Amino acid sequence: MTKYVYLFKEGQASMKNLLGGKGANLAEMTNLGLPVPQGFTVTTEACIQYYKDGKKIAPEVVEQIFAALEKTEAEFGKKFGDSKNPFLVSVRSGARASMPGMMDTILNLGLTDEAVEGLAKLTDNPRFAYDSYRRFIQMFADVVMEIDKANFEHLLEAMKEAKGVHLDTDLDANDLKKLVGQFKVKYQELKGEPFPQDPKVQLIEAVQAVFRSWDNPRANTYRMLNHIPYEWGTAVNVQGMVFGNMGQDSGTGVAFSRNPANGDNVLYGEYLFNAQGEDVVAGIRTPKPIAELKAENEALYDEFDRIAKKLEAHYRDMQDMEFTIEKGKLYMLQTRNGKRTAQAAVKIAIDLVNEGVLTKEEALLKVEPSQLDALLHPTFDPKALKAAKPITQGLAASPGAAYGRVVFTAERAAELVKKDKLPVVLVRQETSPEDIEGMVVSAGILTARGGMTSHAAVVARGMGTCCVAGAGEVKVNEAGKFFTINGKRYNEGDYISIDGSTGYVYGEKIATTEAVVSGDFATLMSWADEIRVLKVRTNADTPRDAHQARVFGAEGIGLCRTEHMFFEASRIKAMREMIVAKNLKEREVALAKLLPMQREDFIKLYKEMEGYAVTVRYLDPPLHEFVPHTDAEIKELAKDMGLEFEELKRTIEDLHETNPMLGHRGVRLSITYPEIAVMQTKAVIEAAIHVTKEGLHVEPEIMIPLIGELKEFKFVKDIVVKTADELIKKSGLNIKYLVGTMIEIPRAALLADEIAKEAEFFSFGTNDLTQMTFGFSRDDAGKFLPDYYKTKIFESDPFAHIDQRGVGKLMKMAVNLGNEVRPNIKTGICGEHGGDPQSVEFCHNTGLTYVSCSPFRVPLARLAAAQAQIRNPRK
Ligand code: PEP
Ligand code: MG
Repeated sequence: MTKYVYLFKEGQASMKNLLGGKGANLAEMTNLGLPVPQGFTVTTEACIQYYKDGKKIAPEVVEQIFAALEKTEAEFGKKFGDSKNPFLVSVRSGARASMPGMMDTILNLGLTDEAVEGLAKLTDNPRFAYDSYRRFIQMFADVVMEIDKANFEHLLEAMKEAKGVHLDTDLDANDLKKLVGQFKVKYQELKGEPFPQDPKVQLIEAVQAVFRSWDNPRANTYRMLNHIPYEWGTAVNVQGMVFGNMGQDSGTGVAFSRNPANGDNVLYGEYLFNAQGEDVVAGIRTPKPIAELKAENEALYDEFDRIAKKLEAHYRDMQDMEFTIEKGKLYMLQTRNGKRTAQAAVKIAIDLVNEGVLTKEEALLKVEPSQLDALLHPTFDPKALKAAKPITQGLAASPGAAYGRVVFTAERAAELVKKDKLPVVLVRQETSPEDIEGMVVSAGILTARGGMTSHAAVVARGMGTCCVAGAGEVKVNEAGKFFTINGKRYNEGDYISIDGSTGYVYGEKIATTEAVVSGDFATLMSWADEIRVLKVRTNADTPRDAHQARVFGAEGIGLCRTEHMFFEASRIKAMREMIVAKNLKEREVALAKLLPMQREDFIKLYKEMEGYAVTVRYLDPPLHEFVPHTDAEIKELAKDMGLEFEELKRTIEDLHETNPMLGHRGVRLSITYPEIAVMQTKAVIEAAIHVTKEGLHVEPEIMIPLIGELKEFKFVKDIVVKTADELIKKSGLNIKYLVGTMIEIPRAALLADEIAKEAEFFSFGTNDLTQMTFGFSRDDAGKFLPDYYKTKIFESDPFAHIDQRGVGKLMKMAVNLGNEVRPNIKTGICGEHGGDPQSVEFCHNTGLTYVSCSPFRVPLARLAAAQAQIRNPRK
């Protein structure tokens, strides 16, 4: 029979896949002899089975839960539902990868009308007993029965008002007992049945609720963002309760073994006396910094500090721990490798190497490549910042600087950003997991309430979004769409700026400046460079982008989209003239205008790249992106070209394509109009001659797009070689260049051996290759892909992460076929996937020479390439 339930004593850290992260670590802490309230874990396999059985818990799982329960009860010497000595448990989710706040937790399970009396007598603390009971009813109703908790919160508020008190802790036992009565009536009213009085029924319902929560919308969103597969399922941890709300000698807290914001090696966290966990996490009461515990109870602080150090040494990583103090005794409820900002991640990795704990390779694996983004993000321009005056200060919860228009709801944030792409700052009383989609699109997040471990702070750090939390002076009026600070009003749409590194908030837009690679970050990058074999280039079309990419360590340009060099208003006209030219003569006039622009650009690019390879991709303008659309634009162009409006309009109409992505673009243009390839070759080679004369070494790589047939390639290559060789010969210089192709049409991958006879390199254009392999329009797939996620047909966007099974198979085939004909053929990737860590790893494993990605992704790709080499060494 499958074992679905493990006592903590039966598990260990290595059983994460089965027990989830939390369960495996509770087992490990038990094995280490730490004070852990005992319990058991229902495995991820039980969760998977639950879904297989149509959301039904299997009888053998129930049976094994009850058997484990009995053993745990015996250990505590307590009994479920007992009127003298009742046993209470917490029920928590725990997947393989941590998903903070994404799934549901139930505390104080086991309380019934009878058990509560027992608890009151046993502890001689009826206030505590009824406080626990009312919390449990609310939580059970909310999490298990999906009854909105506001129904109960209103009753609590009404009770406090009636008593004329402000804090929950000011209510006495009788008040809370009355409240329990009211809660039960409310429960029955809303649920149509009484609150369950059998703790075993409560337990099985709760376990199923955790299983269900694996599939709730916020968990699904979090999983997608973090690439956590749906089929992993979650485990459920059932743990004997210890109580932090038993009076002033009890408490609860969360702490990190190092500072998760900046990486400093000091204990960092928060605690509250006379409280339960959710009070700290939900930001309902503002907790105290852990350092103050030393003053309040030095022995406890020292014990916790010792445990923190032991756990950190054991896991060889910074730990994020939850603890509870029950009547002066410390209990550990959880430990896990702590989430941290990018800045902290880099510092901790380097410190752990310097402390002799980790090797460089191990340290490199500790930093999440996608997190590096945060280090590259802008900070405020120092001059502008000096001139600005903060309007308030909150906690520096997640670093970086941002400005944007104020919005008050996640929906509005998403709506505005989608509409005009301008930044927004989400301002909330506090955030909750439902806000996740709005948080993702926001440039920054500002909350009025909650600490460093509040939802906003934790999630923003994870996403690398700048966040100021707990800014108490911010009075949010969500319904009125405004907030005030000391009486001054800020409305939706007003610009504010926030600094997640200092906690300052500014009532204006402050310019930002770009990041530089220095200090610990530069050290980490240099380690990555020592190890990786995969080269990292950049996609850059302008000298500015090329410069930025060099600062970030790019080793050349892997893709220069030459059509992008003509987006500017002052240049697009010449490009349009070329597109609408009706004959060779007209086209040559337009091309003559384009040539000097291109040549100048290439000179600048070669110089920025300081002798590294520069891959120039020949024109590939999807026509619909370039032709003028409005009558006004057509009129203007007609005037410039000395044409009649009607005539030009007709030409443009003739150019209309039903399917422009599969239309007259890429190599097809040079086949129809070879003069385009001639002009571009002149620009590439003349620019090379120019910089060579200035003493720079340059080896241009000319890349022909959208090839599906060797003869197409050969046709253009012949033009390139003829034009280039003539120019080089005339110059008397020794300039080398390569002519290669993009592999972005499936047919090119299938016939890569034929194409490699002529093509001197391959670069995978995985944007088009994905489009054409799936038959999904890259422009429109966003409309229906969400349905694929909802139905779990896809778990991620194939345009963001390489489809390794399908598109990846074509890539592998092309690499192998290419190598057969041209051993060690240079291969790269220049689709968007080149900056995605998973895809970079795939490219390493497939034996590519380089990846090419946007400048801001270069450091990420360098790290991902090093990690890939550590995991799967390649010569
Ligand atoms: C590609 O198709 O992956 C590519 C890099 O080219 P573009 O995005 O310009 O079509
Ligand atoms: Mg393409």
